[in-house]
Amino acid sequence: MRIVNSNIFSSIPEILLGMSTSEGGVSEGKFGLNLSFNVHDSVDSVIENRRRFFTSLGILESQIAFTQQKHTTNITLVDRSGMNENCDALHSNCKNVFLAISIADCTPVMLYDKGHHAIAGIHAGWRGTAGRIVKKTINEMQRSYGTNAEDIIAFIGPSAGKCCYEVGREVAEQFPKECSVIKERGKYMLDVKQSNMIQLLENGVLNSNIEMHPDCTIHNNIYHSFRRDGNQSGRMLAIIGIKG
Ligand SMILES: [Zn+2]
Repeated sequence: MRIVNSNIFSSIPEILLGMSTSEGGVSEGKFGLNLSFNVHDSVDSVIENRRRFFTSLGILESQIAFTQQKHTTNITLVDRSGMNENCDALHSNCKNVFLAISIADCTPVMLYDKGHHAIAGIHAGWRGTAGRIVKKTINEMQRSYGTNAEDIIAFIGPSAGKCCYEVGREVAEQFPKECSVIKERGKYMLDVKQSNMIQLLENGVLNSNIEMHPDCTIHNNIYHSFRRDGNQSGRMLAIIGIKG
């Protein structure tokens, strides 16, 4: 099993952070280590894949808070495990509640407020990023916990890279100019990771407290990619939690 870890979080023992890849599972073909029941994969395989992934992190599925993501900017405060409907970000200050964000090209942004011991997991696809879901989540943490932005440690995970993520003008126009380059008439290469980086910086997170993972999920076969594989793409999970 190959798990993506964070360098910046490796020096924070109270936090567990890990993201799955497509490798190490029992599903057929490209599904590999698919962790979603919402794709055309066998239920038994997903159950076994989840068991393997959570075991390798040293946690149980019964400790996970999931999101039923809809590309919204809705944010939910959680104090227990289980499914959270119609939201794309979760935050919590409870120990042993592990927040899970499901991804295949969209950007996972994971936050930790080291001052108030609170966490957030954010699903930032292009829609959520254009809707400023990272800024809104920081604001929610400030309201809920009194979070100071300079205490936030942030991880921007593997996702669609500017090398491969082509979008139309109507999408590119919703982002800061520096986040896209024109490829040809009406076609742009979009940098969603950079847009989320800018949101973190604009809201007071220190550059030295942000890690942006370099990998692009579309051209790197160790990741699931909806852009690359369409209906044959599995889903990965990015997990953050405060250990008990
Ligand atoms: Zn790429």
